[in-house]
Amino acid sequence: MEYERFSPTADTHRPWAAAEDRYEQFGYRRVGASGLLLPPISLGLWWNFGDNRTFDSQREILRHAFDRGINHFDLANNYGPPAGSAEENFGRMLRGDFRPYRDELVISSKAGWDMWSGPFGTLGSRKYLMASADASLQRMGLDYVDIFYSHRFDPKTPLEETIGALDTLVRQGKALYVGISSYSAERTAQASTIAKDLGTPLVIHQPSYNMLNPWVEHGLLQTLEQEQMGSIAFTPLAQGLLTDKYLDTTEVERSGGRRSLQDQLSTENLDKIRKLNDLANTRGQSLAQLAIAWLLRDGAATSVLIGASSTAQLDENLGALRNTDFTSEELEQIATITQGDAGIDWWKSSAIS
Ligand code: NAP
Repeated sequence: MEYERFSPTADTHRPWAAAEDRYEQFGYRRVGASGLLLPPISLGLWWNFGDNRTFDSQREILRHAFDRGINHFDLANNYGPPAGSAEENFGRMLRGDFRPYRDELVISSKAGWDMWSGPFGTLGSRKYLMASADASLQRMGLDYVDIFYSHRFDPKTPLEETIGALDTLVRQGKALYVGISSYSAERTAQASTIAKDLGTPLVIHQPSYNMLNPWVEHGLLQTLEQEQMGSIAFTPLAQGLLTDKYLDTTEVERSGGRRSLQDQLSTENLDKIRKLNDLANTRGQSLAQLAIAWLLRDGAATSVLIGASSTAQLDENLGALRNTDFTSEELEQIATITQGDAGIDWWKSSAIS
Protein backbone atom coordinates (compact mmCIF):
# COMPACT_ATOMS: atom_id res chain seq x y z
CA MET A 1 0.00 0.00 0.00
CA GLU A 2 1.26 3.44 -0.90
CA TYR A 3 1.14 6.24 1.61
CA GLU A 4 0.68 9.78 0.54
CA ARG A 5 3.82 11.75 1.17
CA PHE A 6 3.60 15.14 2.78
CA SER A 7 6.11 17.83 2.21
CA PRO A 8 8.34 18.10 5.29
CA THR A 9 8.33 21.89 4.90
CA ALA A 10 4.79 22.00 6.25
CA ASP A 11 6.05 20.82 9.62
CA THR A 12 9.31 22.76 9.56
CA HIS A 13 7.51 26.05 9.07
CA ARG A 14 4.86 25.46 11.66
CA PRO A 15 5.23 28.37 14.10
CA TRP A 16 6.31 27.58 17.62
CA ALA A 17 3.48 27.67 20.13
CA ALA A 18 4.07 28.27 23.83
CA ALA A 19 2.74 25.86 26.48
CA GLU A 20 -0.85 26.61 27.33
CA ASP A 21 -0.35 26.04 31.05
CA ARG A 22 2.51 28.55 31.29
CA TYR A 23 0.68 30.81 33.75
CA GLU A 24 -0.33 27.98 36.05
CA GLN A 25 3.13 27.40 37.47
CA PHE A 26 3.51 30.16 40.06
CA GLY A 27 2.16 33.57 41.09
CA TYR A 28 3.58 36.86 39.76
CA ARG A 29 4.93 39.51 42.14
CA ARG A 30 4.13 43.22 42.13
CA VAL A 31 7.07 45.56 41.55
CA GLY A 32 6.92 48.15 44.32
CA ALA A 33 3.81 50.30 44.04
CA SER A 34 3.63 50.00 40.25
CA GLY A 35 1.31 48.09 37.92
CA LEU A 36 4.21 45.94 36.77
CA LEU A 37 4.32 42.28 37.81
CA LEU A 38 7.32 39.99 37.47
CA PRO A 39 7.79 36.24 37.76
CA PRO A 40 9.63 35.18 40.93
CA ILE A 41 12.46 33.95 38.68
CA SER A 42 13.52 35.95 35.62
CA LEU A 43 16.12 35.07 33.00
CA GLY A 44 19.14 37.22 32.17
CA LEU A 45 20.91 37.08 28.79
CA TRP A 46 24.25 38.46 29.89
CA TRP A 47 26.51 35.52 29.26
CA ASN A 48 25.01 32.61 27.32
CA PHE A 49 23.19 34.40 24.52
CA GLY A 50 25.92 36.09 22.52
CA ASP A 51 27.74 34.74 19.51
CA ASN A 52 29.64 32.41 21.87
CA ARG A 53 26.72 29.94 21.91
CA THR A 54 24.74 28.36 19.11
CA PHE A 55 21.47 29.99 18.23
CA ASP A 56 19.63 26.69 18.69
CA SER A 57 20.86 26.26 22.26
CA GLN A 58 19.78 29.81 23.10
CA ARG A 59 16.38 29.30 21.56
CA GLU A 60 15.87 26.06 23.45
CA ILE A 61 16.53 27.80 26.77
CA LEU A 62 14.30 30.78 26.00
CA ARG A 63 11.40 28.68 24.73
CA HIS A 64 11.65 26.44 27.77
CA ALA A 65 11.76 29.42 30.13
CA PHE A 66 8.63 30.95 28.59
CA ASP A 67 6.83 27.59 28.62
CA ARG A 68 7.58 27.41 32.32
CA GLY A 69 6.13 30.84 33.08
CA ILE A 70 9.24 33.03 32.89
CA ASN A 71 8.03 36.00 30.87
CA HIS A 72 10.78 38.44 31.85
CA PHE A 73 14.00 38.51 29.84
CA ASP A 74 16.71 40.91 30.94
CA LEU A 75 19.21 42.37 28.48
CA ALA A 76 21.63 45.28 28.19
CA ASN A 77 23.40 47.00 25.32
CA ASN A 78 26.70 45.29 26.13
CA TYR A 79 25.51 41.67 26.63
CA GLY A 80 27.16 39.13 24.38
CA PRO A 81 29.98 38.51 23.71
CA PRO A 82 30.54 40.51 21.59
CA ALA A 83 28.64 43.49 23.02
CA GLY A 84 25.30 43.90 21.28
CA SER A 85 25.06 40.31 20.06
CA ALA A 86 22.68 39.15 22.83
CA GLU A 87 20.17 41.83 21.81
CA GLU A 88 20.60 40.88 18.15
CA ASN A 89 20.08 37.17 18.87
CA PHE A 90 17.14 37.94 21.11
CA GLY A 91 15.63 40.05 18.29
CA ARG A 92 15.92 37.04 16.03
CA MET A 93 14.15 34.81 18.56
CA LEU A 94 11.49 37.47 19.01
CA ARG A 95 10.80 37.55 15.28
CA GLY A 96 10.80 33.77 14.99
CA ASP A 97 9.03 32.69 18.16
CA PHE A 98 7.87 35.36 20.55
CA ARG A 99 6.27 38.05 18.38
CA PRO A 100 2.71 36.75 19.04
CA TYR A 101 3.50 36.93 22.77
CA ARG A 102 4.97 40.45 22.84
CA ASP A 103 2.25 41.77 25.13
CA GLU A 104 2.96 38.99 27.64
CA LEU A 105 6.69 39.70 27.78
CA VAL A 106 8.65 42.02 30.01
CA ILE A 107 11.84 42.90 28.12
CA SER A 108 14.46 45.09 29.72
CA SER A 109 17.62 46.77 28.52
CA LYS A 110 20.21 49.08 30.03
CA ALA A 111 23.02 51.47 29.29
CA GLY A 112 25.85 52.56 31.57
CA TRP A 113 28.84 50.29 30.98
CA ASP A 114 31.30 50.70 28.11
CA MET A 115 29.64 50.25 24.71
CA TRP A 116 31.39 52.30 22.05
CA SER A 117 34.52 54.43 21.77
CA GLY A 118 34.75 58.05 22.76
CA PRO A 119 33.25 60.08 25.59
CA PHE A 120 29.62 59.23 24.83
CA GLY A 121 29.79 55.44 24.82
CA THR A 122 29.70 54.89 28.60
CA LEU A 123 28.29 56.05 31.98
CA GLY A 124 25.20 58.27 32.31
CA SER A 125 25.04 61.29 29.99
CA ARG A 126 21.78 62.08 28.20
CA LYS A 127 23.64 61.71 24.92
CA TYR A 128 24.77 58.15 25.73
CA LEU A 129 21.50 56.91 27.22
CA MET A 130 19.28 58.22 24.42
CA ALA A 131 21.51 56.93 21.62
CA SER A 132 22.03 53.58 23.31
CA ALA A 133 18.31 53.04 23.89
CA ASP A 134 17.67 53.64 20.17
CA ALA A 135 20.44 51.21 19.21
CA SER A 136 19.07 48.53 21.57
CA LEU A 137 15.56 48.89 20.13
CA GLN A 138 16.97 48.55 16.65
CA ARG A 139 19.00 45.43 17.49
CA MET A 140 15.96 43.76 19.05
CA GLY A 141 13.51 45.02 16.44
CA LEU A 142 11.29 46.57 19.10
CA ASP A 143 9.34 49.84 19.34
CA TYR A 144 9.73 49.93 23.10
CA VAL A 145 11.27 48.05 26.01
CA ASP A 146 9.26 47.36 29.11
CA ILE A 147 12.01 48.48 31.48
CA PHE A 148 15.03 50.65 30.71
CA TYR A 149 17.76 51.01 33.33
CA SER A 150 20.61 53.35 34.05
CA HIS A 151 23.11 50.50 34.41
CA ARG A 152 25.33 52.28 36.93
CA PHE A 153 25.72 55.58 38.72
CA ASP A 154 27.83 58.18 36.92
CA PRO A 155 29.76 60.27 39.48
CA LYS A 156 30.48 63.10 37.00
CA THR A 157 27.17 63.62 35.18
CA PRO A 158 24.47 65.42 37.20
CA LEU A 159 21.98 62.84 38.46
CA GLU A 160 19.21 65.13 37.15
CA GLU A 161 20.56 64.61 33.63
CA THR A 162 20.72 60.79 33.86
CA ILE A 163 17.29 60.47 35.42
CA GLY A 164 15.96 63.15 33.06
CA ALA A 165 17.02 60.96 30.12
CA LEU A 166 15.05 58.02 31.58
CA ASP A 167 12.02 60.30 31.91
CA THR A 168 12.40 61.39 28.27
CA LEU A 169 12.55 57.74 27.10
CA VAL A 170 9.23 57.07 28.81
CA ARG A 171 7.67 60.20 27.35
CA GLN A 172 8.88 59.20 23.89
CA GLY A 173 7.23 55.80 24.30
CA LYS A 174 10.56 53.97 24.07
CA ALA A 175 10.33 52.57 27.61
CA LEU A 176 7.26 51.79 29.69
CA TYR A 177 9.03 51.73 33.06
CA VAL A 178 12.46 52.83 34.20
CA GLY A 179 14.89 51.76 36.88
CA ILE A 180 18.46 51.90 38.10
CA SER A 181 21.12 49.28 38.73
CA SER A 182 23.88 49.05 41.34
CA TYR A 183 23.18 52.54 42.78
CA SER A 184 23.97 52.94 46.50
CA ALA A 185 21.13 53.51 48.98
CA GLU A 186 21.91 57.22 49.15
CA ARG A 187 22.03 57.71 45.37
CA THR A 188 18.87 55.63 44.98
CA ALA A 189 16.96 57.95 47.33
CA GLN A 190 18.23 61.01 45.41
CA ALA A 191 17.43 59.49 42.03
CA SER A 192 13.96 58.49 43.17
CA THR A 193 13.18 62.02 44.36
CA ILE A 194 14.29 63.48 41.03
CA ALA A 195 12.25 60.93 39.09
CA LYS A 196 9.11 61.54 41.15
CA ASP A 197 9.47 65.29 40.59
CA LEU A 198 9.64 64.66 36.86
CA GLY A 199 6.49 62.52 37.06
CA THR A 200 8.18 59.25 36.02
CA PRO A 201 8.89 57.27 39.19
CA LEU A 202 11.69 54.72 39.23
CA VAL A 203 9.88 51.45 39.77
CA ILE A 204 12.75 49.01 40.16
CA HIS A 205 16.35 48.63 41.29
CA GLN A 206 18.62 45.86 39.96
CA PRO A 207 21.35 45.15 42.52
CA SER A 208 23.73 42.22 42.88
CA TYR A 209 22.47 40.19 45.85
CA ASN A 210 23.12 36.68 47.08
CA MET A 211 23.84 34.79 50.30
CA LEU A 212 27.56 35.54 50.00
CA ASN A 213 27.03 39.18 49.04
CA PRO A 214 24.19 40.71 51.06
CA TRP A 215 25.30 44.37 50.72
CA VAL A 216 21.76 45.52 49.92
CA GLU A 217 20.69 44.63 53.46
CA HIS A 218 22.76 47.51 54.82
CA GLY A 219 20.44 50.32 53.75
CA LEU A 220 19.34 49.75 50.15
CA LEU A 221 16.39 47.43 50.88
CA GLN A 222 15.08 49.92 53.42
CA THR A 223 15.38 52.76 50.91
CA LEU A 224 13.54 50.73 48.29
CA GLU A 225 10.69 50.13 50.70
CA GLN A 226 10.51 53.82 51.56
CA GLU A 227 10.52 54.76 47.88
CA GLN A 228 7.99 52.01 47.07
CA MET A 229 10.36 50.48 44.52
CA GLY A 230 10.74 46.80 43.72
CA SER A 231 14.00 44.93 43.23
CA ILE A 232 15.39 42.22 40.99
CA ALA A 233 18.47 40.49 42.38
CA PHE A 234 21.22 39.70 39.91
CA THR A 235 24.02 37.14 40.29
CA PRO A 236 21.86 35.18 42.77
CA LEU A 237 24.13 32.13 42.45
CA ALA A 238 27.38 34.11 42.68
CA GLN A 239 27.97 33.06 39.07
CA GLY A 240 27.89 29.37 39.93
CA LEU A 241 29.62 29.39 43.34
CA LEU A 242 26.26 28.81 45.02
CA THR A 243 25.56 25.63 43.06
CA ASP A 244 26.95 22.12 43.32
CA LYS A 245 29.57 22.96 40.66
CA TYR A 246 32.44 23.66 43.05
CA LEU A 247 31.48 21.53 46.06
CA ASP A 248 34.17 18.94 45.38
CA THR A 249 36.84 21.43 44.37
CA THR A 250 39.92 21.77 46.55
CA GLU A 251 41.57 25.15 46.76
CA VAL A 252 44.64 23.70 45.11
CA GLU A 253 42.84 22.36 42.05
CA ARG A 254 40.32 25.18 41.75
CA SER A 255 39.12 25.32 38.21
CA GLY A 256 37.87 28.83 37.65
CA GLY A 257 34.64 28.23 35.72
CA ARG A 258 33.22 30.36 32.93
CA ARG A 259 34.58 33.57 34.44
CA SER A 260 37.55 33.68 36.67
CA LEU A 261 36.38 32.67 40.12
CA GLN A 262 39.95 31.87 41.13
CA ASP A 263 40.06 34.38 43.97
CA GLN A 264 36.62 33.39 45.20
CA LEU A 265 37.35 29.66 45.49
CA SER A 266 39.21 30.10 48.77
CA THR A 267 39.25 27.53 51.57
CA GLU A 268 36.91 29.80 53.59
CA ASN A 269 34.38 30.16 50.77
CA LEU A 270 34.48 26.45 49.92
CA ASP A 271 33.79 25.74 53.59
CA LYS A 272 30.83 28.12 53.52
CA ILE A 273 29.27 26.63 50.40
CA ARG A 274 29.62 23.09 51.76
CA LYS A 275 27.86 24.08 54.98
CA LEU A 276 25.15 25.83 52.98
CA ASN A 277 24.82 22.72 50.86
CA ASP A 278 24.31 20.59 53.99
CA LEU A 279 21.56 22.96 55.11
CA ALA A 280 19.99 22.85 51.64
CA ASN A 281 19.92 19.05 51.81
CA THR A 282 18.11 19.10 55.16
CA ARG A 283 15.44 21.21 53.42
CA GLY A 284 15.26 18.78 50.50
CA GLN A 285 16.85 21.36 48.17
CA SER A 286 20.00 21.72 46.11
CA LEU A 287 22.37 24.55 46.97
CA ALA A 288 21.18 26.58 43.96
CA GLN A 289 17.57 26.13 45.08
CA LEU A 290 18.41 27.24 48.62
CA ALA A 291 20.20 30.34 47.28
CA ILE A 292 17.23 31.35 45.11
CA ALA A 293 14.58 30.54 47.73
CA TRP A 294 16.48 32.63 50.29
CA LEU A 295 16.29 35.67 48.00
CA LEU A 296 12.54 35.24 47.66
CA ARG A 297 11.86 35.20 51.41
CA ASP A 298 9.77 38.00 52.88
CA GLY A 299 11.22 41.48 52.53
CA ALA A 300 14.02 40.52 50.12
CA ALA A 301 13.84 40.59 46.29
CA THR A 302 10.74 40.94 44.10
CA SER A 303 12.30 38.72 41.44
CA VAL A 304 15.50 36.69 41.18
CA LEU A 305 17.44 37.19 37.95
CA ILE A 306 19.27 34.02 37.06
CA GLY A 307 21.59 33.07 34.22
CA ALA A 308 21.47 29.56 32.74
CA SER A 309 23.41 27.64 30.11
CA SER A 310 20.95 24.73 29.84
CA THR A 311 17.31 23.86 30.33
CA ALA A 312 18.41 21.44 33.08
CA GLN A 313 19.86 24.36 35.08
CA LEU A 314 16.68 26.31 34.51
CA ASP A 315 14.53 23.45 35.76
CA GLU A 316 16.68 22.91 38.82
CA ASN A 317 16.51 26.61 39.63
CA LEU A 318 12.74 26.77 39.16
CA GLY A 319 12.52 23.92 41.66
CA ALA A 320 13.46 26.52 44.31
CA LEU A 321 9.86 27.73 44.21
CA ARG A 322 8.65 24.54 45.89
CA ASN A 323 9.92 25.86 49.23
CA THR A 324 10.62 29.53 49.87
CA ASP A 325 9.69 29.50 53.58
CA PHE A 326 12.44 29.66 56.18
CA THR A 327 12.34 29.12 59.92
CA SER A 328 14.10 31.74 62.05
CA GLU A 329 16.64 29.03 63.01
CA GLU A 330 17.46 28.40 59.36
CA LEU A 331 17.90 32.12 58.71
CA GLU A 332 20.20 32.40 61.73
CA GLN A 333 22.19 29.40 60.54
CA ILE A 334 22.64 31.00 57.09
CA ALA A 335 23.73 34.29 58.68
CA THR A 336 26.29 32.46 60.81
CA ILE A 337 27.69 30.42 57.93
CA THR A 338 27.96 33.37 55.56
CA GLN A 339 29.36 35.99 57.90
CA GLY A 340 32.52 37.75 56.77
CA ASP A 341 33.43 39.16 53.38
CA ALA A 342 33.44 36.44 50.68
CA GLY A 343 35.10 38.85 48.22
CA ILE A 344 32.42 38.61 45.58
CA ASP A 345 30.93 42.10 45.60
CA TRP A 346 32.12 42.60 42.02
CA TRP A 347 29.88 45.63 41.41
CA LYS A 348 30.74 47.42 44.65
CA SER A 349 32.62 50.30 43.02
CA SER A 350 29.64 51.16 40.85
CA ALA A 351 27.44 51.51 43.93
CA ILE A 352 29.83 53.93 45.62
CA SER A 353 28.84 57.57 45.35
P1 NAP B 1 24.00 33.67 38.37
O1 NAP B 1 22.63 33.05 38.42
O2 NAP B 1 24.66 33.99 39.65
O3 NAP B 1 25.01 32.74 37.56
C1 NAP B 1 24.56 32.10 36.40
C2 NAP B 1 25.50 30.98 36.03
O4 NAP B 1 25.56 30.02 37.08
C3 NAP B 1 25.02 30.23 34.81
O5 NAP B 1 25.43 30.86 33.62
C4 NAP B 1 25.65 28.88 35.01
O6 NAP B 1 27.02 28.89 34.65
C5 NAP B 1 25.56 28.73 36.52
N1 NAP B 1 24.33 28.04 36.93
C6 NAP B 1 23.05 28.49 36.92
N2 NAP B 1 22.22 27.58 37.42
C7 NAP B 1 22.97 26.52 37.76
C8 NAP B 1 22.69 25.26 38.34
N3 NAP B 1 21.44 24.92 38.69
N4 NAP B 1 23.73 24.40 38.56
C9 NAP B 1 25.00 24.73 38.22
N5 NAP B 1 25.33 25.93 37.67
C10 NAP B 1 24.32 26.80 37.45
O7 NAP B 1 23.78 34.93 37.51
P2 NAP B 1 24.66 35.84 36.49
O8 NAP B 1 24.84 35.10 35.22
O9 NAP B 1 25.85 36.37 37.17
O10 NAP B 1 23.64 37.01 36.28
C11 NAP B 1 22.29 36.75 35.94
C12 NAP B 1 21.73 37.89 35.15
O11 NAP B 1 21.79 39.09 35.94
C13 NAP B 1 22.50 38.26 33.88
O12 NAP B 1 22.18 37.44 32.78
C14 NAP B 1 22.06 39.67 33.68
O13 NAP B 1 20.77 39.72 33.10
C15 NAP B 1 21.97 40.21 35.10
N6 NAP B 1 23.20 40.94 35.52
C16 NAP B 1 23.10 42.27 35.71
C17 NAP B 1 24.20 43.03 36.05
C18 NAP B 1 24.05 44.51 36.27
O14 NAP B 1 25.07 45.23 36.38
N7 NAP B 1 22.85 45.02 36.34
C19 NAP B 1 25.44 42.40 36.23
C20 NAP B 1 25.51 41.01 36.05
C21 NAP B 1 24.38 40.29 35.71
P3 NAP B 1 27.53 28.31 33.26
O15 NAP B 1 27.10 29.30 32.24
O16 NAP B 1 29.03 28.25 33.45
O17 NAP B 1 26.90 26.95 33.11
